[in-house]
Amino acid sequence: MTDITMHSELRSLGSTMKAVRFHGCGNLRLDELAVPDPQPNEVRVRPLAAGVCGTDAHILRGEFPATPPVVLGHEVAGVVEAVGTEVKGLAEGDLITVQPNTYCGVCRYCRMGREHLCPDLRAYGVHMNGGFAQAMVVPGRVVYRLPSGMDARLACLAEPLACCVHGMDRLAVRSGSTVLVIGAGLIGLMLTRLARLAGAGLIVASEPQELRRAVALEFGADRAVDPNQEGTKEPLAATQGQGFDFVIDAVGSAATFEQAIDAAARGATILVFGVAPMPATASVRPYDIYARELAVLGSFINPYTHERAVHLLPQMGLEKLRIETYPLGEFRKAFEAQMAGGAAAKVELLPQLM
Ligand SMILES: [Zn+2]
Ligand SMILES: [Zn+2]
Repeated sequence: MTDITMHSELRSLGSTMKAVRFHGCGNLRLDELAVPDPQPNEVRVRPLAAGVCGTDAHILRGEFPATPPVVLGHEVAGVVEAVGTEVKGLAEGDLITVQPNTYCGVCRYCRMGREHLCPDLRAYGVHMNGGFAQAMVVPGRVVYRLPSGMDARLACLAEPLACCVHGMDRLAVRSGSTVLVIGAGLIGLMLTRLARLAGAGLIVASEPQELRRAVALEFGADRAVDPNQEGTKEPLAATQGQGFDFVIDAVGSAATFEQAIDAAARGATILVFGVAPMPATASVRPYDIYARELAVLGSFINPYTHERAVHLLPQMGLEKLRIETYPLGEFRKAFEAQMAGGAAAKVELLPQLM
């Protein structure tokens, strides 16, 4: 495979570049745009790899608010090409990743240190031009340097990994406890690995696709079960019927949320990580939450976790993932592959390739 991290090979762009822009529901186009120049506080980045994520698919279907016309791509690894005069600690040629979310700084949440709950959250690749382009500009403060030589295809996963690190902060897994992870897509796999690194005892993965179950074992699950065959019975048997101390819904649906409640031990903590369709409602008995003293937690994006995600990248075993890559010009195929939800754990665009 060609080494796409060889940034010395990057050809300079001239005055225009190609970018994949969202123009409204169902309307994604490859546009020719002016190459952006960094402001004094900004850097220009040449994205090498950019993940296509569920959020991008939601944006395209009009299910997630974005600001058209906007270049999508919020999971980005690339090379710094130009540095604004006020930016410190970054130099041309640095391999970097971008933390895409920015906050207003003056609302009550921002002023209580909970910026990720800011109602004026704005993200590169959603509201401001992102990484599905031959170049992007971002403020130096959202840029994180990567270990040099790191494969950009793995490095752009720092963004979803940072979200998983926040989930683990919320969950606070205790050493030796039992963990059920529902879903073994990229997020389920990352959370499985993080639970293992956090000292979990028994980890069971629940996943209908056989290929993904095999990968879950490589990421640290002790067992991987098929929910269509076993329901919650098999995973529960693994805990002698006690249920799990920590349950993660890495799918996001009414059915998996109900499964998570069913599989929880007394005193368990349940993490709602997967993004359910907004109108979905689940059936839960409040008595269950009361009598079994369950804690149900949400986890939203990545407050103060991108730095730690960058340091965790080398320990995650991400090279075991099946990653499908497409040149920028084949963005339609990439989106189709992402939405089809096949065997690949991740679909990415390589913006420097056409
Ligand atoms: Zn994403
Ligand atoms: Zn705010």
